[in-house]
Amino acid sequence: MTTTTQNAVKKLTHFIGGEMTPGKSERFGDVYSPSTGEVIALCPLASTEEVNEAVEVAHAAFEKWKRISLGKRVEVLHRFRALLVEETNRLAEMIGLESGKTVADAKGEIVRGIESVDLAINAPHLLKGEYSVNVGGDINSFSIKQPLGVVAAISPFNFPVMVPLAMTSMAVAVGNAVILKPSEKVPNSALYISELWKKAGLPDGVWTVINGDKEAVDTILKNPKIHAISFVGSTPIAEYVYSEGTKNNKRVAAFGGGKNHMIIMPDADLDQAVTAFLGAAYGSASQRCMAISAAMPVGEKTAEAFVAKLKARVAQLKVGAYTDESADFGAVITQQSKDSVLKYINESIEEGAVLTVDGRNPEVNAPEKGFYLGATLLDHVTPDMKIYRDEVFGPARIVVRVSTLDEAINLINSHEFGNGVTIYTESGPAARKFTQEIEVGMVGVNVPIPIPVGYHNFGGLKRSKFGEAHMFGPDTARFFTKSKTVSERWPEAKEDSKTEFAFPSSNQ
Ligand code: NAD
Repeated sequence: MTTTTQNAVKKLTHFIGGEMTPGKSERFGDVYSPSTGEVIALCPLASTEEVNEAVEVAHAAFEKWKRISLGKRVEVLHRFRALLVEETNRLAEMIGLESGKTVADAKGEIVRGIESVDLAINAPHLLKGEYSVNVGGDINSFSIKQPLGVVAAISPFNFPVMVPLAMTSMAVAVGNAVILKPSEKVPNSALYISELWKKAGLPDGVWTVINGDKEAVDTILKNPKIHAISFVGSTPIAEYVYSEGTKNNKRVAAFGGGKNHMIIMPDADLDQAVTAFLGAAYGSASQRCMAISAAMPVGEKTAEAFVAKLKARVAQLKVGAYTDESADFGAVITQQSKDSVLKYINESIEEGAVLTVDGRNPEVNAPEKGFYLGATLLDHVTPDMKIYRDEVFGPARIVVRVSTLDEAINLINSHEFGNGVTIYTESGPAARKFTQEIEVGMVGVNVPIPIPVGYHNFGGLKRSKFGEAHMFGPDTARFFTKSKTVSERWPEAKEDSKTEFAFPSSNQ
């Protein structure tokens, strides 16, 4: 919802040229606290003109930042990392307030975000080029990696700190100027990160936060001084950003939604599988791109035993305010999101799914207006149902029963999404077949959520990712740099110059 009215709620700013800068467009988006359902701030929605002005400021800062030595740049990152650690409690509180996730969960995402700063601190190692001596005619050949210029990151609501850090830390370290356009639903933590960058000594203009909606994104997509875009969000917008951005000659990595399965083989340790499913499926109110959506027990006996154990545990899960230390997860992000999840549940019941645990009207010790949904489990879901085909971003999880591992693999491979998947089994051959044949980017074996650590590449397949680049991991250094190959010759004495018309070869 967007409002243009003046009221007592705090108006947030952008962060441009090292300063908190008020918006000029007079358009604002309401920022809610999902735990109370109240508007806690107004997020400025930048106009095309404001975005383009910010790009000019960033471009000027880039011209200086790219000349700063790698060692000096890394010093800034070291200080930034230390500040993130020092400010973890404050950041976690901010994340909880505006996203609804519990403080414990918020702290977990900060730790994972810091992993990507750790990797960026290693940028000097990742920027080393190749060098060959005397490739022919006393010529030495080497490759160098240089920053691109101004680059942009457009982030989603569900990880207000981890995803922006994963998208941008390496971009800064390798010498770019970065423009972050955070989700307008969670702008506070991005602004706070800006303060930390400034305190760490990052020169003004190298880091910009532009708050906004479609107008800001469309301007980023068109501005010729922006050379690369890293996007994380839902699949339709990821596809749009990828196609428009590449049409305008930009490098784009666009990460979209997921529908992540957990296969439970007949030989799996069921208690371990149930425990893993609970956290991976319902943590963060299931609002993670890597959340497990569907349990896929293999064989009727496995399904009966797994569901019997699972339903008792799901029924005990507790939803609550982000400050409630006894809550397993918090509210969903908006009322609209809550309504959408309820619609999926109700339609699937009409289509024949069996409502095994009903979380539609949870008991919550929190303000009534909060966007709360309890843990819901639907059994006997079939692949033709909408609740199976779509990404459902809320705590309604499903059981899809299959007869064989081949059937499970075929179903998962024919699904639109390919972000994460996992198998629970005691069988090496089954696990090997699964990891070889599955068409999914991040694969687990007896691991609940197979999110790679910061120094490995992150990214899905199929319509979970558009473009070849990855997030986290060493691939980010490649994505945010251009490479050149230099052939260099310094002859000792002047030679008789003779023009060669034959194609140059190394046989000289
Ligand atoms: P979203 O697509 O609604 O928004 C993401 C960003 O796009 C925001 O900054 C938003 O302002 C912008 N945006 C929204 N609509 C737009 C439009 N019409 N034109 C241009 N820009 C637009 O996503 P969300 O609801 O904030 O986040 C949840 C989604 O993100 C889920 O689908 C989740 O799976 C996905 N996600 C994916 C990953 C991953 O790594 N693959 C990680 C986190 C979240």
